[in-house]
Amino acid sequence: MKMEYKLILKAIGLEAERAKVKAWAVGGFARDRFIGKTTKDIDICVEGDTHSLIDFCVKKYGAEAKCFKAFGTARVNLACGLKLDFVRCRAELYPKPAALPKVRPSGLKDDLMRRDFTCNALALSIMPGEFLKEYDLFNSREAISKGYIEVLHDKSFVDDPTRLFRAVRFSARFGWPLGKNTERLFREAVREKRASLLSRQRIVNEFVKILREKCSYKALKLADKYGLLDFVFGNLKYGSKIDTLSTFEEKIALLSLMQGERGADFVSSLLLPKEGTALCFEVLKWREAKAAPAKALSKKAVKILKLYKPAVEPFKLRPLLLKAEDALALGFKGGEIGSALKKLAKAQYRGKIKNKRAAVSFLKTLK
Ligand code: ATP
Ligand code: MG
Repeated sequence: MKMEYKLILKAIGLEAERAKVKAWAVGGFARDRFIGKTTKDIDICVEGDTHSLIDFCVKKYGAEAKCFKAFGTARVNLACGLKLDFVRCRAELYPKPAALPKVRPSGLKDDLMRRDFTCNALALSIMPGEFLKEYDLFNSREAISKGYIEVLHDKSFVDDPTRLFRAVRFSARFGWPLGKNTERLFREAVREKRASLLSRQRIVNEFVKILREKCSYKALKLADKYGLLDFVFGNLKYGSKIDTLSTFEEKIALLSLMQGERGADFVSSLLLPKEGTALCFEVLKWREAKAAPAKALSKKAVKILKLYKPAVEPFKLRPLLLKAEDALALGFKGGEIGSALKKLAKAQYRGKIKNKRAAVSFLKTLK
């Protein structure tokens, strides 16, 4: 993979020269490479038109190019796993705080200037003759080597308050504190409730990204410390156990349980698609019912519930020992079946019924 990405970037650089444009690998790729990590997501910014480079990747590598947006922006997926995001170098203007920016084509300097933090504003040329040469226009190397998160200008959080969430995420991921000026600006932006100008969806997207990190707990704690978490959900409860889970789906289910009575409100407030919340509602339903579940809980639900309540007795998680057919065979009819099974479910949950035979005897006493 290491060699492969170099060869591919070199080839794209040659094509850039042929097309008389300039191209750099920027953002997370340049940052991660500086700290000795390779990533498969590479942002490539181009001074000039991006289309020839995108066409080149599609033809040469049989790549898939997705979602051409305005401005020649595209995601190109290569068979080897590399994901290239092509963007034309641009300058951004925020017509008002937290609005999406107006953009115009520009050069590398403006493109780096519009970025969130100095650690993400390093560029590596991919052009022949200067392949992987660093363009460090905003002290990125210093930020990465010393390890701190610093905005590029004082209006950064006002222009785009999603950067508040990005700041705690990167700070937690790398263990880099906020720089002094950035911390002051951060607190000011929270005090001025800048994040409340963002749409719910944009806030949720940032929250989801935090939960996709391995160090979600640390990021949540930081967001909490600065009062940012309240913009996601007031008085959100969370704990370090969250980092024993690896998927977003599981983390959100654990969080939903931790919100107590407000669990369902929390999940609904995230506006997630239905598939994303099935596990949440499975565990919430179990907790509310205080009865044996009618059908077996999923493995994931059991894992989350045990994590949430380590002392939960295994019998509380066991599915109901009898089905409607069993009640029917014992002579229950119509509505009696449901109410008999309900009573059985409660008794089983309380640990009074340990096996199928005891369950049959219990139902008989209800006749
Ligand atoms: P990750 O490792 O999480 O992918 P990344 O730094 O690559 O981190 P991305 O969200 O992939 O982050 O964005 C790519 C680059 O785009 C960033 O490095 C940053 O330079 C820029 N960027 C992304 N979001 C913003 C934003 N809200 N404001 C300014 N610049 C941004
Ligand atoms: Mg990235």
